[in-house]
Formats: sequence, C-alpha cells, structure tokens
Amino acid sequence: MTSPAPGPSGPADVASVGLTSAAAAAALARDGPNVLPTERRRPAIWRFVRQMFHFFALVLWVAAGLAFVAGMPQLGTAIAAVIILNGTFAFVQEHRADRSADRLKALMPTRVTVRRDGRRTTVDAADIVRGDLLLLESGDRIPADAVSGPHADLRIDTSMLTGESEPTAVGAGVRLYAGTFAVEGEGEALVTATGGDTRLAGIARLSSGAAGSTGPLSRELRRVVRTISAIALGVGFVFFAVEALLGVPLVDRLVFSIGVTVALIPEALLPTVTLALAWGAEQMAHRRALVRHLEAVETLGSTTFVCTDKTGTLTLNQMTVIEAWTPTGRAGIGAPGYAPRAPVTYSSPDTHDAVVRLAVAGARCGSGYVFAAEGSWRAHGDPMEAALDAFAHRVSARWPGLRDAPEPDSRFPFDPRRRRMAVVTGGTVLVKGAPDAVLPLCGEDRGASAVVEELTSRGMRVLAVAGRPVGDRPPATAAEAERGLELYGLVGLEDPPRPDVQSSIAACRRAGIKIAMMTGDHPMTASAIADQVGLRSPGGLVVVGADLPADDALGAGIDHDGIVIARVSPEDKLRIARALRQRGHVVAMTGDGVNDGPALREADIGVAMGLSGTDVAREAADLVLLDDHFATIVAGVEQGRATFLNIRRFLTYHLTDNVAEVAPFIVWALTGGQFPLALGVLQILAIDIATDTLSAVALGAEPPGRHTLERPPVCGRLLNRTVTRRAFGVLGPTVAVFTLAAFVASFTSAGWRPGEPFPTGDVLAAASGAAFIAVIMAQAANAFACRSSASTPAALGWTGNPLLLGAVGADIAMGLALLYVPPVAEALGHRAPPVAGWTVALAGAAAVLVVDALDKHLRAHRRPR
Ligand code: ADP
Ligand code: MG
Repeated sequence: MTSPAPGPSGPADVASVGLTSAAAAAALARDGPNVLPTERRRPAIWRFVRQMFHFFALVLWVAAGLAFVAGMPQLGTAIAAVIILNGTFAFVQEHRADRSADRLKALMPTRVTVRRDGRRTTVDAADIVRGDLLLLESGDRIPADAVSGPHADLRIDTSMLTGESEPTAVGAGVRLYAGTFAVEGEGEALVTATGGDTRLAGIARLSSGAAGSTGPLSRELRRVVRTISAIALGVGFVFFAVEALLGVPLVDRLVFSIGVTVALIPEALLPTVTLALAWGAEQMAHRRALVRHLEAVETLGSTTFVCTDKTGTLTLNQMTVIEAWTPTGRAGIGAPGYAPRAPVTYSSPDTHDAVVRLAVAGARCGSGYVFAAEGSWRAHGDPMEAALDAFAHRVSARWPGLRDAPEPDSRFPFDPRRRRMAVVTGGTVLVKGAPDAVLPLCGEDRGASAVVEELTSRGMRVLAVAGRPVGDRPPATAAEAERGLELYGLVGLEDPPRPDVQSSIAACRRAGIKIAMMTGDHPMTASAIADQVGLRSPGGLVVVGADLPADDALGAGIDHDGIVIARVSPEDKLRIARALRQRGHVVAMTGDGVNDGPALREADIGVAMGLSGTDVAREAADLVLLDDHFATIVAGVEQGRATFLNIRRFLTYHLTDNVAEVAPFIVWALTGGQFPLALGVLQILAIDIATDTLSAVALGAEPPGRHTLERPPVCGRLLNRTVTRRAFGVLGPTVAVFTLAAFVASFTSAGWRPGEPFPTGDVLAAASGAAFIAVIMAQAANAFACRSSASTPAALGWTGNPLLLGAVGADIAMGLALLYVPPVAEALGHRAPPVAGWTVALAGAAAVLVVDALDKHLRAHRRPR
C-alpha cells in the first residue's frame, strides 16, 4: 500500500485509504501528540491574591489596617495572618476542585474512529496526526482541525467555539474545528492540524481562565456574606460613635470597633462551605454520580422537576426483537439477549422468506452488531441495531453478521427529526425508522398500522423496515432515496424496565419532585413503559411533541407530575426546560446526547449518561451518571439536599459563636466601659479559626438523614428564619450569658464583690480565660445541638456522626492548649481560669443542651407535624 502524503493536499486522494500505521507513527513522532497545550490558567499567584480580597477579607483588611494605625501591630498582624490563612485554604481547595474537574474530563471517552491501513479502527484522540482520515458519526467530538470529505453529510455544533446554538450543516470540503461536535449525520474528514496548532488551542491561549459559575448557591452565599459583613460594619460604626460620646480616646475606640467587627464575622464560613460541597461531591461519586462543578451538588438537592428519558435510564437498554410482522405473516422470538441462536416460531411455513428479508434489511440498515466476548454475546454500538443483527442471525443461518457484511455504498444516517435512516447497498435502498416516519413513504398499509398499535401498546419499540431497488442510479440525497418504498415489515423490540426504577420514582414523589418522561419513542410504547415503572398516574397525560402548546402556554400545559411526552425533538426539550424554569422549577433533565446539548445547558441540572451518552451531552451536563440509572439521580438529589442542610447546620453553629463573641463588647459599651471586656480580639480570632473549624467541617459531613427524601425540596435561603432564630434568639444568647457568667464568677472567686471596681492584671486575665473556655465548652455542646433543627442530640444519638466526636474532642484539646501553653496564653492575653470559672463554663455546656431541648420541644408542640 502506498503511503499518502500527509497534509491538506485535498481530501479526495486519501478518502478511501487513510494513513498507514507506519506513516501515522512517523507523523506522531514529528508533530507530537494531539493534546492541547496544558491549559494556562490565570497565574497561580493571581488566583492566590484574589482569595485575599473577597468581601469578608476586605472588611478584615480594613480592620488590620486600623489596628496598625491605632498602634497595635500584634493585632494587625494577627488579623492579616487570619486572612492569609483563610485565603491559602480557599486557594488550595479551589485548586483541588479544578484538578478534580480535570479528572472528570479524563473519564470522558477520548477514542476516535479513523481509517488506517484501509481499515476502520479506533485510536486514542491523542494519537491523531495530520493526514489522518476521521470517520465521524453523530455524537463524536471532533478531535483535531480537519476538512470534511466528499461524502460528508454532517451537522456540526460549533457552540463551544462560536456561541452559535444552531448546528450548521456541513457538506464536502468544509473546515471543521477541534472541540466542536458532530450532532447529526456521518462523514469522513481529513485532519489538517493537531494539538497546539488547532484553532481551539489558539482560543484557549486567548481566554485562559474561565469565569466562575454563579449558581444559586454562590448567589445565596454572597448574600449571606454581604448581610453579615454589613451588620458587622454597622455595629462597628455604632460602637465607634457611642464611644465617642463616652469620651473614649481615639485609639481605644478603634481597637474596640475593630474587635466588634471581627467578632461578628465568621471567618471560617466560606472555607467550610467549600469543604461541605467537596464532601457532598465525593459522596455522590461513591453513588456513581459525578458532578462537573461543586455547586451542582447543591442545585441537584433543590430539584423540583425531573425530566427523564426512557431508553437506558428507565429501561435497561438491552433490546431484543421479540415480534416481527410482514405482509405475509408473523414471527415470534422466544429468548431475550443478543445470542445469534434462539427459537423462532412462524405463523405459517411460507412466512420464513419474508421474515428473513425483513431481518436482513433491518440489520444492514445500521451499524450496531453483536459479538462474542468472554463467553457471552454483547452489543456493539446502538443496542437496537445490535438486536436487529441478532434477529437476522436467528432467522437466517446464511446471514454473515453485519460485521462481515460489505460496507454500504452510501448512508443517509439516522436523524432525530426524520426519525429514520437509509443505506444504499447492492442496488437497493433500505430504510428503517419509526413507523410513523416510514409507513407514509410506502404504498399500501396492508394492516401494518393496526400491528403498530398492537405492539406499541404492549410496550414494544416498533421499527418499520422498507426498501426499493434503485439499479445503478444511486440516489444523492435522503429525500431522493426515501420515497416510493415497499414495506418489508415491522419489528417489535423489547427493552425491559430497570428493576429498581419503580421504587426510585416513588421516592422522588415522596420528596415532592415531579417527574416527566421525555422520549423520541412512540406515545404508546412510552406510556406502556411509564405504566410499568409507575411513572404515569392513572389516566395521566400523554402528549406528542408536535402537539405541545405554544411557548406562552407550554409551562402550564406540562407542569404535571407523571406526564409522558413522546416523539419529542431536541428543540422541544429545550423549550420544555425553559418553560418549566420560567414557572420557578429547578429542572433536572437527562439527555443521551445527540442534539441534547442546548437543553442540557438550559436545565438547571443537565444530566448526561456515562455509559451510553455522547461526548456532546457529557460536555454540556452538570451531572454524569456513570451507570445511566434513574435511581442514581435520586441518590444525587438526596445527597444534594443533605449538603444544603449541612451548610445551614454549621452556619447556625458559626453564628451562635459570633453572638457569644460580640456580647462582651455590648456589655462593655452599655456599662459605659465600667464592666471590663471579657474577650479580646485575639481570643475571638483564635476561637473562630482554631477551635471552631473542625466541628463545623464535621457538621458539613453529616450523612443524609432518614427523612431527607420525605419532605419537599429544600431550596431557598441559607440564612432562613430557623437559622436566625436559633443562632440569635436561642443558642447565641445562652452561650453569651454563660460566657459572661464564667467571667464574673472568676472575679468573685478572687474576692471581688458587686459594686467594687473590677480587678485588673492576673485576676482579669484568669477571668478572661474562663470566658474563653466557656465559649469553647458551650460550642462543643452546640455542635451536637446543631446536628438537627428539630431533634435533640439525645434523640438523634450522640454517635450518629463519628467525625463530629473526633472534631469536638480535637477542638476542646486545641482550646486547652491555647489556654494552658504559657507563651500562647500570654500572646492571647489570658491565663488559666479558677475553679469557679471552669464550673460555670461546664454548666454553660449543659445549659446549651437544655435550652436547645426546650426550644425544640416547644417548637414541636406549637407546630405539630
Ligand atoms: P429515545 O428517547 O427512546 O431514546 P430516540 O430519539 O433515540 O428515542 O428514537 C426515536 C425513534 O426513532 C425511535 O422510537 C425509533 O423509532 C427511531 N429510531 C431510533 N434509533 C433509530 C435507528 N438507529 N435507526 C432507525 N430508527 C431509529
Ligand atoms: Mg435514544
């Protein structure tokens, strides 16, 4: 075989041959692998610096600056250290999230079909070289820049390069770019540029570093951060003003105002949120659901409407032809599976030939086939087409198998709008497709419509197969090929429902989530399957895509649980996602790929299939189901909800702390500075950063509760009424009271009596130590109280979250170290507290649990559930 010259010398000369393996290897050695130059993100230092300047951080920087101005360099340094510590953590975390996104990308198939040595073969996308002949099919991602070949009939989705959402039709000799997708059709293309020479690489160089996504969670977090920061700053200002009235010197005023502001800001909140999301994503991965960005974890939890497809998600996508109809009689096939032998029964002896013609034509008109591997027969390519290949084997011993049949002379590939496909082979056009797309092209009906009715109502997917001799004048277009056909017959395929889908659908319902089935299949088949899996409510709606209402009425028309929408086109799905979102739904929509990209992007959660889906769908999706299984969506929703609730849990925990920290300042101000400050800014920072964080992180890893899926979707505000009430009205004040009480008790035990001036020096330092340990002990109890907003720790069981046990222990140990290790304690300005202080501190922990239990009890009785 001669080796064709690589390069864009014209598609025609290599169109049927492709490169030889040797030439490809040489080109690979010369040009290097076909990979994008490693994505140049914003320089790490830039991303690092950015983490130091979000809203909380800005407030803290101002505080640090003022501390320096006020002549307190230790305080200024401490605050700066906190910002940098926090920023570093966020940076590392973001970096890890980025890396896990890369890992997800690596899971995407990167194999490409090419012709080499005159044969069809699949190679690694990285091994594509200039001069390679790509064999593109719908769903393929184009791996390198190329020029389409003479027989190409493709539609290309260029949205990732141009933003153009409509796919463009591509014939011969058109430039194709790496990174775009073939969404329809088939065709060959000659590679002209690879790796760093592609246009994609050029664009990547221009726009390195994508803008962060802004989902509901980031918006909500930003709101919480702004609210808290505004309160913190406001209170700081009020203090500054009040102190001015009291005649406090400027420097002291600055220090106190800074202290209040710092006390009110939960410094560790944002890193903890990131950790909680990352943990949620990891739990989902264990349940075979991969999120493509962290925030999808939370969005999935707030899903209110799931639009699922049928084939493969609700069913097994294991197809078998079990019924065949021809104008001369019928055949029935006994055994499911892809094995080439199975008992076949014919309605009359002379039906055999007609059934063979039907089966062989059906098999030839496709590219999926069956093959034996590891002792069993499996499907290669489209399982439905493989089922047709198996069917042909079963009825005719002479059928060589599609794998060994000659390539057709030309193809007019399947397209979800036409719902049929055609090949030209041996002077004949063969067409297969949905009956409603094929029967109108055939002359007489001869009872076919009634059979379609019968088979679809039994839940079978029905295909019509037809043909016509064309002699030596091959048709040039699909329209020319697909007319004046003779109907060969119908095949009925069975695709059993997944066994556990029924319980998942029921779980969705209990969780207040509506479900709709959207399929390209026949309405009768769709509703039969919907009934079998319990998706459709009795008498539920079945709509055909073409009958969907116009945009303004669409939302109301489809906003029904258990609705079945059959014969949908990708455009319908896009409209449906948009209409449901306009009605306020959080929509999760599945798509197996071809043309589904826009709908998946429109939905709040685009769900793609890891097994059967296409690159297009995976690229557009937020969630990839590794097992294609509907139940996995439900598992994801459960985990997403749990994560959202966990964020509320540690938000309550952090805010409680802030109330306790700000209380000493308020008392100090209300007494006109007579009552000494129980906690200094450094102690507050130490609590927020060192002794509070682990417990908060552990609260973020609470497993989903038993009832997570038994109540309506938990979307909405993080900082809701319950969180606010519990943190500011119940738990916070309790901790605050005991903190101050521990402080006072220490004075009393040193001989101080009310009315006397407060002692200073070591006695004050020991009292401050008591206040410090009081906060820590109360927070330890609070961590358990925050595990639920309705059940007491006793009711939940203390060991339900083993992580929390460890975290609380570690936090207490940390607090003790900060109190008893002399140099550290000295830096924080406190000393070991007296017994009385300790006693009150421990009583505070008990009090938190009692008050929490009382509150939960009262709530439960006021609003019975
Ligand atoms: P689903 O939503 O079940 O995945 P599709 O959109 O894949 O449905 O298919 C819609 C209809 O198009 C099918 O019911 C079938 O009649 C027809 N069809 C699907 N795939 C092929 C194919 N490879 N060849 C011919 N017809 C097909
Ligand atoms: Mg399909």
